[in-house]
Formats: sequence, structure tokens, C-alpha cells
Amino acid sequence: MAMENNPAWPSWLPIRSELADLKPYGAPQISGVRALNTNENPYDLPKKVVAEMLEALPQVLANLNRYPDRDAVALREALAKYLSKSAGAVFGSRNIWAANGSNEILQTLMLACGGRGALGFTPSYSVHPLIAKATGTNWISGDRETSFNIDIKKSIKMISEEEPGITFITTPNNPTGTSTPYADLEELAIACREIKGLLVVDEAYAEFSKEMSAVNLIAQYPNVVVVRTMSKAFAFAGARVGYAVCNEAVVDAMLVTRLPYHLSSTTQALALVALDNSKALLAEVDALIAERDRVAAQLTKLGFEVSPSSANFLLFSGFKGDSKTAWESLVAAGILVRDVGLSGYLRVTIGLPSENDEFLTAIAALRS
Ligand SMILES: *Cc1c(COP(=O)(O)O)cnc(C)c1O
Repeated sequence: MAMENNPAWPSWLPIRSELADLKPYGAPQISGVRALNTNENPYDLPKKVVAEMLEALPQVLANLNRYPDRDAVALREALAKYLSKSAGAVFGSRNIWAANGSNEILQTLMLACGGRGALGFTPSYSVHPLIAKATGTNWISGDRETSFNIDIKKSIKMISEEEPGITFITTPNNPTGTSTPYADLEELAIACREIKGLLVVDEAYAEFSKEMSAVNLIAQYPNVVVVRTMSKAFAFAGARVGYAVCNEAVVDAMLVTRLPYHLSSTTQALALVALDNSKALLAEVDALIAERDRVAAQLTKLGFEVSPSSANFLLFSGFKGDSKTAWESLVAAGILVRDVGLSGYLRVTIGLPSENDEFLTAIAALRS
């Protein structure tokens, strides 16, 4: 029997029926406005780092006739070193997998281990359910509390009932900024271990948070996988580098589902220089945290409600009209924030101090 065609697609296109209602991920891209919508680090790379990258390039370019190191060993070693230094647990390259952004890591993981479905607690990162659907992984949606925290007892009950292959926790959570305490992550790790499932902790914003990283759980709980990125704190979004920290067996599983030669020689070489300069690239993190706290205090003073954030963005409510109307008014004022699909809320990325001031001036006019 032929499937009913979704009218949005031409009838000759054999798109998978379970994908027919999905929309591609992405925020509106508008030029000529302050881009406070995708949680990038607003600071350009230091000139010294750019110069070192240029120095590394000739050798890489001359060798573009060859495939890159399929296993990106040097890069994984450098990532292991960075992590061992910053997170307090010791890792080697066998505990790291690297890819074109952490989104590719998530896809590789779901292809390998998503057979029993994936569970997440919303509102959270909307790419998790999207990749689940695109990889044929059954998505199971749990809830967060109204404070956007995770109710641990309820979540553990759900894990044991649903028995997902993968349970996602994003901490600090996007788009709410909320952190899940380390002790809670450990309880979730145990619950997932009991059903032979992975606990995947998405730590895209870890460098902005004071909480202990879930990488410290991996030695005791081999079913814990931590996913990190160089796109946010590291100011390296354009290069596309993300990585997983995990038990060697998880890396081996991902080797099966990764595409051969997925990470270009250029990306690997530039990422090596970036990691060699991690201090310089992360230099503005403290300033961004201070700005986050300043903008949160100002928003509160103006009468907005701000969700407590451990990341480089703020979720807030209390403006006139709905999210879409307020978003449009801010665009008209030259400020691009994110409508994350949460009724009555908008998310703003912390930018340069002058950009944050422009945002505060624009949003002050929209107080309800
Ligand atoms: C930004 C983000 C990512 C993806 O980052 P990449 O650029 O693909 O590395 C993953 N998870 C969360 C929660 C994010 O906010």
C-alpha cells in the first residue's frame, strides 16, 4: 500500500515517511544585526593564534592529495591532554573520539547505540530528538520541572520503565542555562547502568560552569559518555570540532558508525594549534561569565524573570506580547536573539559588553 504523501514534498521524492514532517534545524540567519542567537564566543581569535595556524597550513595543503589520519590520533591525544589538565580525571587518546562538531558525535553515537531508543528531558537541546528521528532512533520525551531542574526520582523511574539505550542530560542545559548537580548525574548513571544503557552528558557549555564535570564519573561508570565541543567557550565554532570522552568500548562502537576519513586534515591541523593555545582561546571565558552575571542582574532590575544560568546565555521572560512579537521587535532594533519555541521566553547569548548594552537598551523598551 502506498504511503500518504505529505503535501510539502513532491510526490516523486521517496523521503522516509517518518521524516516527512520534520524541519531542518536552524535559527534564522540575518546579516547586519548583533548576532546574540547561537551561543558563540564573540571574541575573534588572537592574532598570535591565527599566525600559528597560518604557519601550520602549507604542509597540510601540500598533502591534501592524501586522506587525513582516519583515527585523528594526534588530535585525540591533544584533547585527552587538555581534558586531563582541566577536568581532573586522567584520559588517553583511546578515551576520546573527535568529529565535525559535537552534533556529529551525537549522530555517530545514536547510530551505534540508539537501538533501544533515546530519552531526553525537555526543554533541552532540540537537536537530540532531531538526530534521533533522522537515525531511526525512537525518541522518548521526559519533562523538566517548571524551574527547569530535573526531578531525579521521576527521571530514574522513567529510565527503568523505558529502558532506553541512551539517556541524554544536557548540563548546563541549553536553552535554560540550568546545571544538573554531579551527585544527581551519578544517580542517573547508576539507573542507566542497571538497564544496560548509556548516560550521555552533553557538556557543550562546561567551561562556563563551576560544577564538577561528568568526565569524573567515567572511570567508575563506563556507561557514562561526555560530549564536548570547541564551538562555544573555545571560540572555534567555524572550524567544527566536537568530541566524546568515554570508555574505550564506546569509542570502538563509534568507529563502526563513523564515516571513513570524516575529519579533514585541515580541521585536525587547526584544532591541534587551537589546543596548543587553549589558554589564549579560553582567555575571555571569565569575562563572559562576569558579563552574563551583569546582564542577568540588569534584566532582573528591569523586571524580567531570568533563569539561573551556568552557561554563556540567558533565558528570560516578562516581555510584552508573545515570543515571536518580542523577537521581531528586537530584530527591528538590530538585535538577533533566539526564539527557542518556549512560549513567553527568549534566549540571549552573552556578547561583547557593548552588544550586551545595546540588547539591554532594546529589551528595556519591551517590558510588559
Ligand atoms: C551548541 C551545542 C552543541 C553542538 O555544537 P557543535 O558546534 O556541533 O559542536 C551540542 N550540544 C549543545 C547542548 C549545544 O548547545
